[in-house]
Amino acid sequence: MNRYKNSQNAFTKAKKYLPAGTTSNARLWKNVCLADSSCGIYGKKAKGAYIWDLDGNKYIDYRLGFGPVILGHSYQKIRDAVHKIDGNGLVYALDNELEIEVAKKVNRMVRCAEMVRYTNSGTESTMTALRIARGYTKKEKIIKFEGHYHGHHDYLLFSLPKHIKDHKDKKPVQGSLGIPKAISKLVYTEEWNDFSGVEKNVRRNHKEIAAIICEPVTGNSSVILPKEGFLKHLRELCNKYNIALIFDEVKTGFRLAPGGAQEVYKVTPDLAAFAKSLANGYPIGLVAGKKEFMSLIGPGKDKVFHGGTYSGNPVSMAAANATLDELRKDEVFEHLNSYGRELIRKINKLYDDYNLSAIIQGFPTMFQSLFTEKEQITNCRDKNKFCDISIFSELQKELMKKGIMIDEDSEEAVYTSFSHKKEELKKTLDAYEDAIKSVKVFLGRHHHE
Ligand code: PMP
Repeated sequence: MNRYKNSQNAFTKAKKYLPAGTTSNARLWKNVCLADSSCGIYGKKAKGAYIWDLDGNKYIDYRLGFGPVILGHSYQKIRDAVHKIDGNGLVYALDNELEIEVAKKVNRMVRCAEMVRYTNSGTESTMTALRIARGYTKKEKIIKFEGHYHGHHDYLLFSLPKHIKDHKDKKPVQGSLGIPKAISKLVYTEEWNDFSGVEKNVRRNHKEIAAIICEPVTGNSSVILPKEGFLKHLRELCNKYNIALIFDEVKTGFRLAPGGAQEVYKVTPDLAAFAKSLANGYPIGLVAGKKEFMSLIGPGKDKVFHGGTYSGNPVSMAAANATLDELRKDEVFEHLNSYGRELIRKINKLYDDYNLSAIIQGFPTMFQSLFTEKEQITNCRDKNKFCDISIFSELQKELMKKGIMIDEDSEEAVYTSFSHKKEELKKTLDAYEDAIKSVKVFLGRHHHE
């Protein structure tokens, strides 16, 4: 039986009008809907922990829009907050009081957020943070890390996870056609968790380096944690050499903890980019930072330009305001953490019981399985070298068949939401057990164990 007939038909129609048949390259599935080529799965609706596709297949959703849906799909309190104000117009080209209200809450929750500026996406947030860093330091070059993703603008689309296998040195690998060569000259790429590599680079080039940007917990090369002291090391280097430290908390923000990775690791960056979980799925982003950096934004030729027709629109603000109210309640993170901890513990146990060499890295709200003999993976090179993608893919395909949606790309994380409860935990673990049994059969066939 073809479980994806309607999605395939829609995709065939889409290809005529939408390049690559999609609206985001990241949404193409390679192994799921067509045997021989990539295709889009079309979503029909999502509610709570569940998502339905166009063919009526129902899944427990662990992709959650690539992260934003921290409370659950179509969460009632957020809908109510939005619908309370969406009869009052959607965009004013005037400021609204919710911008102040949300800024106050972010300020209380996030260490570096003395001031904030709203955007509409993670891409805009990192782009704006870079401009502030360059404006502040009067320098132009940036250090980024291999396998970290910061959005689709030109400045940081280098050395993504898929590029790392093929090249030996640490030169930036351009991630798209159309990026001017001149821009790659402004980027240094370093290996994540390489204390001495970054330090050497900074000592040699600090007169030109405006910023070090990182995902404090990498969420785009599966999930890779910073080694003990690594974020502090970056902080110290930046302090010493007048370099701005930027945390891209687009995935980690309002998800690892109410105050993001900077709360967990107790390291305060100068600037940080947020989006995703800030408004439970409504389009929004923000740059947060220390006052001395943020107050550079403003009108005038010696200031940093920033605007945006939709930035701070009342609908996204109402969604953010209500989301933050929920996330600040102790019981919300208590549940998120206990659900995720239990899920991780029991999946790990299944890997043990069935004798699969696997580790799980990350946090209860954002983690991933890596099929490796190693005890820990600490950078993207090692992930590409030491992890068996074929096992991950087989597991993922089997999970999909059993109604558990995790991304087929092992670079993505498994995300949890507040709407994932006991019943979903049990269903998920039963499906994992069945899927792992199928993986063992697959391994028996392919690895001739
Ligand atoms: N930074 C990080 C760490 C991300 O994971 C993403 C998106 N996955 C972005 C930036 C870009 O965000 P957006 O897609 O909202 O532009």
